[in-house]
Amino acid sequence: SLEQGPEGPETPIQVVLRVRPMSTAELRRGEQSVLHCSGTRTLQGGPEVAFRFGAVLDGARTQEDVFRACGVRRLGELALRGFSCTVFTFGQTGSGKTYTLTGPPPQGEGVPVPPSLAGIMQRTFTWLLDRVQHLPAPVTLRASYLEIYNDQVRDLLSLGSPRPLPVRWNKTRGFYVEQLRVVEFSSLEALMELLQMGLSRRRSSAHTLNQASSRSHALLTVYISCRTAQQMPPVGPGEPPVGGKLCFVDLAGSEKVTATGSRGELMLEANSINRSLLALGHCISLLLDPQRKQSHIPFRDSKLTKLLADSLGGRGVTLMVACVSPSAQCLPETLSTLRYASRAQ
Ligand code: ADP
Ligand code: MG
Repeated sequence: SLEQGPEGPETPIQVVLRVRPMSTAELRRGEQSVLHCSGTRTLQGGPEVAFRFGAVLDGARTQEDVFRACGVRRLGELALRGFSCTVFTFGQTGSGKTYTLTGPPPQGEGVPVPPSLAGIMQRTFTWLLDRVQHLPAPVTLRASYLEIYNDQVRDLLSLGSPRPLPVRWNKTRGFYVEQLRVVEFSSLEALMELLQMGLSRRRSSAHTLNQASSRSHALLTVYISCRTAQQMPPVGPGEPPVGGKLCFVDLAGSEKVTATGSRGELMLEANSINRSLLALGHCISLLLDPQRKQSHIPFRDSKLTKLLADSLGGRGVTLMVACVSPSAQCLPETLSTLRYASRAQ
């Protein structure tokens, strides 16, 4: 478990691996499960292939197990102290990224998802809303929810139909999305409504319908600020205290989209996904390289890395949940996910 005391982060990036159970479709096709967890931190992908992570969770682990093993409460405590914290899921389409963050989709209109299947996001929000009630000073909570699709930012909470919004930078705010709707909330119900609104827009928005959700990065951010400004430590001497934030990112599917025979749209999607995930991997590897500590980190290479810059650099903490299928059929993509995830730690 990565659960630790709320002292400062000792490594800026932590990586957890989740292997989902075999799906009924995979079992029906007679596919073999080829991944084995040995212990709590090692994944065996064949006799000679072993990967170590902060934690490894197999298909038998519940949503609650995953929430605990990820130490998200610790991230929440850091966010309350002014850190920028990000949890992102990485993996090929169908590997369980959305399930891990937000749980399974509702089975039908008005059929609620059982609380035991709630994802990391709902669990964190439940924890956070309870936690802020017990803080000595009043805290203001606000949320935004956006999608990056073809390297364009779309506001999932916008009141009208979403238009592409520009990403800008200034000295006090760092990178930010201009005109992004940020909604204040004070109850779990209100936040869940925002989450549902964004999720449904994400699912039905693009021309590619349900494909859209696997071709876009979705970022839900909760901003925490303290009304009396005493708890939030200032960023530097003489600077005003800034609030912390907690960001959840459901990344686009990491599979190589070899758009043979298709052109235009799909090609554009594939290029922008590959480019942004490569940019993310590149920034992470530079951040982790002690020799390059002081060097320039190319956050500007994609909108995704711009918006994650404060969590990856400076006052930030990032948790990556790499998601994979156990099926032999997925092994090539699984290995590339495992390599990407290993390099990030
Ligand atoms: P992704 O977002 O990576 O494309 P999903 O989260 O949509 O993948 O998962 C693909 C399918 O597998 C969905 O039907 C989802 O409900 C199911 N699934 C994923 N992870 C699990 C799990 N740990 N336990 C049970 N079902 C899962
Ligand atoms: Mg998904």
